[in-house]
Amino acid sequence: MEERKGKRIIMFPLPFPGHFNPMIQLAGIFHHRGFSVTILHTSFNLPDPSLHPHFTFRTIPHNKEGEEEEDPLSKSKTSSMDLVALIRLLKQSYAEPFRQSLAAEVGGEETVCCLVSDAIWGKNTEVAAEEIGVGRMVLRTGGAASFCAFAAFPLLKDKGYLPIQDSRLEELVTELPPLKIKDLPVIETNEPEELYGIVNDMVEGAKISSGIIWNTFEDLERLSLMDCSSKLQVPFFHIGPFHKHNDDLPPKTKSKEDYEITDWLNKQDSQSVVYASFGSLAAIEETEFLEIAWGLINSERPFLWVVRPRFVRGTEWLESLPCGFIENIGHKGKFVKWVNQLEVLAHPAVGAFWTHCGWNSTLESICEGVPMICTPCFTDQHVNARYIVDVWQVGMVLERSNMNRKEIEKVVRSVMMDKGDGLRERCLKLKERADVCLSKDGSSSKCLDELVSHVLSFDS
Ligand code: UDP
Repeated sequence: MEERKGKRIIMFPLPFPGHFNPMIQLAGIFHHRGFSVTILHTSFNLPDPSLHPHFTFRTIPHNKEGEEEEDPLSKSKTSSMDLVALIRLLKQSYAEPFRQSLAAEVGGEETVCCLVSDAIWGKNTEVAAEEIGVGRMVLRTGGAASFCAFAAFPLLKDKGYLPIQDSRLEELVTELPPLKIKDLPVIETNEPEELYGIVNDMVEGAKISSGIIWNTFEDLERLSLMDCSSKLQVPFFHIGPFHKHNDDLPPKTKSKEDYEITDWLNKQDSQSVVYASFGSLAAIEETEFLEIAWGLINSERPFLWVVRPRFVRGTEWLESLPCGFIENIGHKGKFVKWVNQLEVLAHPAVGAFWTHCGWNSTLESICEGVPMICTPCFTDQHVNARYIVDVWQVGMVLERSNMNRKEIEKVVRSVMMDKGDGLRERCLKLKERADVCLSKDGSSSKCLDELVSHVLSFDS
């Protein structure tokens, strides 16, 4: 841990686990390098500051002083919204309150060196930072390959790839190999133009920033990083995987559920368990849920499955499973509402990760050398899945459109028996590459040194 610098970095995460977690990991990296950190956060998905005692947390007031209007981001209103509508509402609701909260942060004892905002907040955060004379860097929580695809949206629209037509799903996007049209990072929404607007604001906001911090590493995404860099023309700092920095931090406190999960994993054979989780946002239909349940049972492999409350549309948790299902599986399978995924993936009992291919999950799996079964649901997950399967060759695809119990059984057995011809071996090699990039003279460590100098140069 470096000596305190008397310098503060303000961070503004997007309030979803897949964005908040890497921002907090980055905060830890900066703190380790001697910076103080303030997290400005929304009241939507409020974080628990007691879990991160090194940082100052400030909630951005949602309504103007004295105003009593009902919160448009209340759980009851947002639960039925699609993700695009929710992000639009977050951006609208927090633009002005964020500007005021940021301005209130300057003038204290410590110099504010810069703002680090999630790329999705877009250009507004640049304007707010400029107003108070503070540099702004962008954190991109996704991979570089998917960002290249987002940056190409105007071209993809011009060339007729977007909006996606069902008759062309299998066609190669010649400008973005190896992506096929079905891999383009879109999402089902009632507001397609809104989606294009959010993506455009993210890309343009990144172009006018003082630099982009990437949670990726050079040996994984060298070509995509080069491609992005030539298009965006701002300094790049690929310092990932974030969660593998600072191994000297004290371990997190474990809940009773965490202990139960570890106990259960401890009883399983090495590399025998299928860990299934579809991230923090994706939801599935009841019929899909039942096919997954039967497919896992029929594969005859022990499984640990994260089923978030309301993950299955129209249900609270597991009530759509047939009567007696859970009792019958006994110790062969375990359903949980949430896990410490980093710990689960690092457990020697885990043999494969059935994932929706969110970027954090992808990196976390690679960093533990765990091969993946890929069922992408929306946006960048499609791009990540294509890279996992075709480029890095560390996983097999199980498309949502083909998710019946027979196919599930087949793919689970194939991956667990490593019929993908060395999936695990290749994954372990990638894990080694990540370790090399993070080592003292590796690319991620060098980029981190450059990032620290860059941030310090803002107020000199
Ligand atoms: N995660 C977790 N426990 C769970 C499910 C997810 O800790 O039971 C974490 C996971 O480790 C990852 C994040 O939540 O860091 C999910 O991010 P990702 O980019 O994979 O997917 P998203 O949730 O954004 O779709």
